[in-house]
Amino acid sequence: MLIDGHGRTVNYLRVSVTERCNFRCQYCMPEKPFSWVPKENLLSFEELFLFMKVAMDEGVNKIRITGGEPLLREDLDSFIKMIHDYKPDIDLALTTNAYLLPQTAQRLKDAGLKRLNISLDSLKPEIAHKIAQKDVLNQVLKGIDKALEVGLGVKINMVPLQGINDNEIIDVMEYCMKRGIKVRFIEYMENRHANIDLRGMHGKEILAKVKEKYTIHALGREGASPSFNYKIEENGYEFGLIDPHKHDFCENCNRIRLTAEGNLIPCLYFDEALSIAKSVKEGDIQGAAEVLAQVLKDKPKENRWSDFDPNEEDVSTRAFYETGG
Ligand code: SAM
Repeated sequence: MLIDGHGRTVNYLRVSVTERCNFRCQYCMPEKPFSWVPKENLLSFEELFLFMKVAMDEGVNKIRITGGEPLLREDLDSFIKMIHDYKPDIDLALTTNAYLLPQTAQRLKDAGLKRLNISLDSLKPEIAHKIAQKDVLNQVLKGIDKALEVGLGVKINMVPLQGINDNEIIDVMEYCMKRGIKVRFIEYMENRHANIDLRGMHGKEILAKVKEKYTIHALGREGASPSFNYKIEENGYEFGLIDPHKHDFCENCNRIRLTAEGNLIPCLYFDEALSIAKSVKEGDIQGAAEVLAQVLKDKPKENRWSDFDPNEEDVSTRAFYETGG
């Protein structure tokens, strides 16, 4: 079992397979970075997997593939199959913008993928375009349909933004209700890479929008999930709120993150990371295990979004497209 320096059990590894993305979402990567990580610095699937085996052997039982846009990485299904074949019972999921799902969903399912989290920030073509800076909605909706058709579990992530998609919270929720899938509203997390003019919505404001139409009951957090769940009285539908600005958010944090170039990151907010690249390139399992132990020891107690002040310099410098969110 993996325990961090604050006594929390860590059983969840998020693996970003690329920082590249085919969208330019305003809250994540509004502009192409000055330079991408050179391809030769990316770890191969075999190298990533060597570390993942160490983590799985020590107690990780949940893995999420993310990015950038993970479906941009060639042969992703072969990577998924590697993980699935090693531990068929592992809770294996992927986060995607769904743009490439129409042509990949079946292969991902056949490789052993169980679940997808899909970003859907708007149901209006022009607003989806404004957020992603590309005409994406039609293809994203096709991707969601395809994922459901092939039998993948689907959850939807929406980041409500003031004056942009804040009037679509109920629409996106009802779209999900009709399809029997869960939506999770994610508070916008301020960071240096995002468009500086963006203003997110706090959990309370998001819930107030839902309450304009529905009566809701708080259910609580589901284990170590970052999502606080609510139930709609009128029809029993359950949705989630991911509220990193709340003080209790980090209490049960169970996750660490691995980037495509091998940086092992203990917290989404902070820059600190240690590299496993040298160990896995040399096939040094002991070395990789030692880096993992050090990262767990150093895992911060909590993020700083909880006391975020937009007037202070202290904004997270971590790029979401690098860590995978
Ligand atoms: N490209 C994939 C996608 O669009 O889902 C995976 C990577 S993306 C970085 C993973 C998640 O992070 C998405 O649900 C996205 O909405 C979320 N995200 C990115 N930047 C964020 C921010 N500043 N605040 C809140 N959520 C963010």
